[in-house]
Amino acid sequence: MCEAAGDDGGCGADTAPARRRRAPGRSHPRPCVKCGQGSASLVIRLGDAFCRGCFREYFVHKFRAMLGKNRVIFPGEKVLLALSGGPASSAMLRQVQEGLSRETAKRLRFVPGLIYVDEGAVRGQSPAQREQSLALMETLLQATGFPYHLAHLEQALELPASILRPGPEGSGKPGPSYKEAVEGFIQQQRQEGDGDGDGGTSPPSLGTQAGDLAAPRLPAAARTQELLRLFEAVETPTAREELLQMLRTHLILQTARARGYAKVMTGESCTRVAIKLLTNLALGRGAFLAVDTGFVDNRHGDVMVVRPMREYMAKEIAFYNHFFHVPTVIAPPLPTKRREKPSIHRLMENFLLGLQEDFPSTISTVYRTGEKLSPAPAKASSESQRCLLCLCALDIAGEEELALEPTLITEEPELVGNGCCQDTPAAGVESKAAFIPLLCYSCRLTFKELGTDEGAEPGGPAGGRGAQRELKGLGTAGDRPPTLWGTGGAG
Ligand SMILES: [Zn+2]
Ligand SMILES: [Zn+2]
Repeated sequence: MCEAAGDDGGCGADTAPARRRRAPGRSHPRPCVKCGQGSASLVIRLGDAFCRGCFREYFVHKFRAMLGKNRVIFPGEKVLLALSGGPASSAMLRQVQEGLSRETAKRLRFVPGLIYVDEGAVRGQSPAQREQSLALMETLLQATGFPYHLAHLEQALELPASILRPGPEGSGKPGPSYKEAVEGFIQQQRQEGDGDGDGGTSPPSLGTQAGDLAAPRLPAAARTQELLRLFEAVETPTAREELLQMLRTHLILQTARARGYAKVMTGESCTRVAIKLLTNLALGRGAFLAVDTGFVDNRHGDVMVVRPMREYMAKEIAFYNHFFHVPTVIAPPLPTKRREKPSIHRLMENFLLGLQEDFPSTISTVYRTGEKLSPAPAKASSESQRCLLCLCALDIAGEEELALEPTLITEEPELVGNGCCQDTPAAGVESKAAFIPLLCYSCRLTFKELGTDEGAEPGGPAGGRGAQRELKGLGTAGDRPPTLWGTGGAG
């Protein structure tokens, strides 16, 4: 019996040829097309019916194949898995666990760590609800035996300004080739005679279980209020989504750097990638689509972001999680204010998922179109001029950019000075305007909606502070000295 409807699923261009088995009736359970023995429990792409066992193999293999094809994760390397508690990143975690427990020849050889960013404050959760989902999440993370880090979105307000600059590239680059690294690693394992040992456990040197940025409890209420004011000042739900993504990325990046992870894995599925492609196109990020959605995202220089789940359909993931009891912790969506239109992100998601229901090739078609994009053109333009917020190469040929950039990036005291003038709305506006030339086209649009003086609601926060807080939120007016390259930080 079929538990799943047919689906033109597979995102990969290299998926198997269509073998359409047309069972005359649905009275008999179909045999699995792979082993021919088990009865099919679900139908994935183009009518291929798999039994559970074969589906599991297919799923696990796909993950390893994705990493094998791209060859950017070196053996023994520390990799930070960014988990949201959602289906895709939870399935990703399970793949890593599976991969580490396999027999030697097929085993994944990197050293995973986990990070979860608690965004409950801006997702409308009460402190009690936050505590609850945090505790749930922590139980799940703990059960893996991997080192994990819990961070709160509030902590993004304390990030050093260095988070806005790409790290020094090349920690992984001048090293051995992938092949050499693998051979060296195997050699080393043989010498240690621990080839079949416990691949899953991590060396104790990875440090404490609690996050470096994180206190186990919730942040101080004042911090939460500050974060909420920052979000409330944002004029559109679209900019709010972008702000959330940016702060989360910064926190993950900071943890990776501070804890010596050179790679971060995120769990975007094929469905998510397709939605992001169209969303970002609508947001004016056409030049950066390949970086924003590709397997490798190298914009941060020292920390590479990879997206190993991007060939899995959301539906596949849902079935995998259901069959193999992968636990998830679902966070509520960003709340919208009254009479507010949904964000471009939501609209695009609804549009694509709706279309997908009637035209099952929609997602994979969008995905495959995205595959044809190359990051090269944007990368080639200029390495020195990068957007302050998204770190992509500036796509606006500007006049004053060069003149302003050094001032704002190097002379932070000036910004702190502006930031201090909390009761002068003009100060916020001025410093805000000064940022515009440093941003790419899309980030300019977002940045302009991050809160203005006129936009303050009755009873809402003082508008002038909005802009000032933004800068603070973005780390530019932070009172902490940049710590990453000067003193500490393994990365
Ligand atoms: Zn089978
Ligand atoms: Zn940008």
